[in-house]
Amino acid sequence: MRPNILNPLFASVTSLPGIGQRLAQLVEKLAGPLVIDVAGHLPSGLIDRRNQPHLSTAEGGAIATVVVRVERHVKSHNPRQPYKVHCSDSTGFIDLVFFNAREDYLLKTLPLGQTRAVSGRIDRFGGELNMVHPDHIVPEEELSTIQIVEPVYPMTAGLAPKVLRKAIDAALERLPTLPEWIDAGIVKQRQWDGWVEALRAVHHLQGEAELSTLSPPRMRLAYDELLSNQLALAIVRSRNKRKAGRSNKGNGALRRRIVGKLPYTLTKSQEQALGEIIADMAEPTRMLRLLQGDVGSGKTVVALLAMANAVEGGGQAALLAPTDILARQHFATLEPLCKAVGQEIALLTGRDKGKARDAILSRLASGELKLIVGTHALVQEDVEFGDLRLAIVDEQHRFGVEQRMALADKGAGVDLLVMTATPIPRTLMMTAYGDIDVSKLTEKPAGRQPIDTRTVPLERLHEVADGLKRAIAHGARIYWVCPLVDESEAVDLAAATERHRVLRQTFGERVGLVHGKQKAAERDATMAAFAAGDLDILVATTVIEVGVNVPEATVMVVEHAERFGLAQLHQLRGRVGRGAAKSNCVLLYQAPLGETAKARLQILRETEDGFRIAEEDLRLRGGGELLGTRQSGLPGFHYADLAVHGDLLATARDDARLIVERDPQLKSERGEALRMLLYLFRQDSAIKTLTSG
Ligand code: ADP
Ligand code: MG
Repeated sequence: MRPNILNPLFASVTSLPGIGQRLAQLVEKLAGPLVIDVAGHLPSGLIDRRNQPHLSTAEGGAIATVVVRVERHVKSHNPRQPYKVHCSDSTGFIDLVFFNAREDYLLKTLPLGQTRAVSGRIDRFGGELNMVHPDHIVPEEELSTIQIVEPVYPMTAGLAPKVLRKAIDAALERLPTLPEWIDAGIVKQRQWDGWVEALRAVHHLQGEAELSTLSPPRMRLAYDELLSNQLALAIVRSRNKRKAGRSNKGNGALRRRIVGKLPYTLTKSQEQALGEIIADMAEPTRMLRLLQGDVGSGKTVVALLAMANAVEGGGQAALLAPTDILARQHFATLEPLCKAVGQEIALLTGRDKGKARDAILSRLASGELKLIVGTHALVQEDVEFGDLRLAIVDEQHRFGVEQRMALADKGAGVDLLVMTATPIPRTLMMTAYGDIDVSKLTEKPAGRQPIDTRTVPLERLHEVADGLKRAIAHGARIYWVCPLVDESEAVDLAAATERHRVLRQTFGERVGLVHGKQKAAERDATMAAFAAGDLDILVATTVIEVGVNVPEATVMVVEHAERFGLAQLHQLRGRVGRGAAKSNCVLLYQAPLGETAKARLQILRETEDGFRIAEEDLRLRGGGELLGTRQSGLPGFHYADLAVHGDLLATARDDARLIVERDPQLKSERGEALRMLLYLFRQDSAIKTLTSG
């Protein structure tokens, strides 16, 4: 249970002054739904009002605070003419300029003959000074209240800056005093203030320095975030370590038979990765290994051979895929190979019900069925294994840590292999897995031809269609991907449906459509028809994004390519170029393209190297956003910027390891404080792990 002291922070933003139901939606979009999110809404800039020049020395175009005497109100008689208030100090004059002014209000705030402090942007036209709509007007005694550094926040339409600031200030007021959770030595060495002080300092700026991600308060908050991340990982990992592993040694017989049936020879990369996996499985500890390989690098066969190793050792192996389509796809690839060597393999998805499912479950439980491929259905509670030795999780980023572990928990000392096509830099890897061993497939299978990638504006669609007709006449199979943007799935779906309709007019009946809202059976039937060559064109939303394998498909058309991330486009393109035939990728874009979009598409034209693309992606997005979280499955950070806080990550990892070693249940005084940290950063699943022992 979350400690009561944190409750005010986990209240809805509607509990903040000035935030009603309507504004709450805007605040939620901007910062998040809770008071703590508002307290953590970071300023993106500042306005320095400390500059207090005499009028004679005031610079044009700069923000300044001036103390002036009100000389004269110059009313406008024409609504398009502004209302001016003529003011002076001992050195010169300035006009305060108001459009659509309310006279009574101006007479009250700027009474004739009185002195007022005003702050805003001063413009200079020749000798004349102007200030259009001053941001602040106060009596001279209150000068100090406006002569400050004001934070500027990322905004959203409909939410006034003043309202947001008030809400933030109120949220900051509610921060409770919490015990320090960071190691005393680190706090001292870095000269960090406490969490509350740091969060306040981030908002109460003194100058540009505090805006920097390298300022002590920002560093402290970044460290808090990274520590919570690393601690959560360390807790889950230590729980798994406590369960002993076991040595899993196969004799190689089944593997040799499978390799003998392959229509190709393994690449050196595949051999090496497999060697590492086999050696790891033979160790008496539990394997936690990532198999990293670009799309099309041939991870699936490596997975199968690792599974065969488990079977040789007398155990079972399971392959978990994130979607139905992928599970079926894997099954379709693996089953013929298994059949050829007389090894049974089964498929289990959410669609298997009743007797068929019961039959699979009972044979899994008895250990009679050795190999299985499936979806989430595999980790259901009533699924039991006789002796599960190896769990493989494909495209892991679709899964949470818990699900990943849930499959491994279905046996004793299960070895875990995670497969990903996302090239992840080492530091980022740490944030997703803590410590993990990595095998990389660095080379593509031989005989692959480069994919010819072109960018074409949407208005030249008809030319593309002509090209496709010729390609189809030569037997090409074509993917046509329409974007799915979260904001409005209905509209996107309509676009895909419409495209399908139009393409049918041009190309006839042999055009299919798959999307996420379809009934699974319908979708499968269409995919199967495409794979079998009964369809020439497969129109799809991004459901085909990951892992689909139809080697005969040689053309990929992506509509509105500018709306996709670089990594995602790379994945999509990877659906073609899988066979011996020459492949093409057409990126249709809506002109005009922004600079970044242009650069992105250019990179795709230049290279097919996933690692290079990932790096460029990183560069183009800037440090703050690193590989789009959605695509990579890596945790997104709010305070931490791994491009600059890499050393903090390393420190956090070491500290987390030490904490878990010394106080695995977080029972000590500092342990209690660390629990607060985990709650603050919503690492509830780690806390659950703690309590479940
Ligand atoms: P991914 O790493 O994207 O999962 P797959 O395992 O789906 O890649 O393999 C892509 C294609 O390459 C498949 O059609 C597979 O049969 C083929 N393939 C795998 N290994 C080799 C190899 N060593 N030589 C030739 N083709 C291979
Ligand atoms: Mg794959």
